[in-house]
Amino acid sequence: MSYTIAGGVRMEEYKRTRRQQIKRMSPAPRCVCIPMLQHAGTPSTPLVSPGDIVCRGQLIGEASPEDEHGGDCRVHASVSGRVTRILERDGAVCVEIENDFEDRLSPELKPFDKRLSDTSSDEIIEIIKNAGIAGLGGAAVPTHIKLRAAIGKTDTLIINGTECEPFFTSNHRLMLESPASVINGVKILLKTLSLRRATIAVADNKPDAVSKLEGLLVGSALIKVKVCKTKYPQGAQRQLISALTGREIAPDGLPIDARCLVFNVETCAAIFRAFAKGIPLIERVVTVDGDCVREPGNVLVPLGTSALDVLDACGGLKKPPSALILGGPMTGAAQCDLSAPIVKGTRAILAFSRDFEGIGRYEQTPTCIHCGKCAEVCPARLLPNYIADLYNAGMHDEIADEFGADACIECGACSYVCPGYYPVTQYVKMAKHRPIKNQLTENELTNNSALPPTTTAAEE
Ligand code: SF4
Ligand code: SF4
Repeated sequence: MSYTIAGGVRMEEYKRTRRQQIKRMSPAPRCVCIPMLQHAGTPSTPLVSPGDIVCRGQLIGEASPEDEHGGDCRVHASVSGRVTRILERDGAVCVEIENDFEDRLSPELKPFDKRLSDTSSDEIIEIIKNAGIAGLGGAAVPTHIKLRAAIGKTDTLIINGTECEPFFTSNHRLMLESPASVINGVKILLKTLSLRRATIAVADNKPDAVSKLEGLLVGSALIKVKVCKTKYPQGAQRQLISALTGREIAPDGLPIDARCLVFNVETCAAIFRAFAKGIPLIERVVTVDGDCVREPGNVLVPLGTSALDVLDACGGLKKPPSALILGGPMTGAAQCDLSAPIVKGTRAILAFSRDFEGIGRYEQTPTCIHCGKCAEVCPARLLPNYIADLYNAGMHDEIADEFGADACIECGACSYVCPGYYPVTQYVKMAKHRPIKNQLTENELTNNSALPPTTTAAEE
């Protein structure tokens, strides 16, 4: 049986890197620029100064005491070397480190020396917090905050290996190459939450990953693999929960309202690495692709490395890109600056020329021909064209409320299928983000129970 979401769209997959083994970035970057805010929450404060010599894995940023409960996530040096600058970049404070290529690991990093069965939830959460782990599916919610808020309020743990957005293949490769790390991470999460059952959701375009995981889980009553239809946005949290459990979450609700918690497969592997080896989150797997990239692949990248350095390590660009995207084509952010750093939530670097199909489609004159296709694919069961029209007519509050714009997960499926090239996603997003009543108050941000909103299609 294949599980599936309401709506959604089967897209061209462009997963040509699915057979490319994960490779450590080579050559390593000469310099990294590590932002103090790489997660959903409050920024960390640098603990180092220019001239300091740091080791790989050394703590270089943490929340100031007054921000400690405001969504903090620690930051560590991803290379060994010398701190050259503390600078501001795109509104975030960053620590720049010149790599000494000695790869000295911080002597403070040690594997946790107790058996999992003898370890308390508090101890595991402390390990995860110290390791600076945030959701690697893209949403980058600090994992320790999510876990602490869920203890005693969750009965279902879901691990997301669906990876349905085009181009992404890093989760697929991780499940093939390190399935034991993923499974061990799931066991740590089960222990933390005192649960007896977890589901790893994998899309049916990855039968080899399903076999690999199932092969290691023969006879396991704790963890089961469930196969989902390949469809975008299958991996969006609330859609995945609904597909697997039938439980629905209100637009302003959280997964724990449905007694569920969702983590990405790479987050599980990072948790296991922190527990078993003491290594914090200092690198992640990035899919590098697009028609401009000479040698597309899956690369293990030190955090803070520039997109340009990663592209150079993939053979460089064979033609100038007209679009550079950090993240996926549907949920990522277009960049105009190749020096943008890879952060905890960066799943991909995509570089497209004007020749790439689809890039020029929005140069057409947009019009709505009322075909209804956007409503057919909307996973939130909205009428996107109506919301867009009413928003344009200035009926922002009443009509957006009545038509449920708040439930939009910003997946972009409506624009993707629109034959009129109408920027319908943008209009629905503007209706959703009309004056600030949706946003967390300062008071809510200081409360652990108020996790950052999870109302987008970015995976956890
Ligand atoms: S916005 Fe696009 S998909 Fe939706 S009804 Fe109009 S033309 Fe059709
Ligand atoms: S972007 Fe929003 S309105 Fe459009 S399909 Fe996705 S959830 Fe529906």
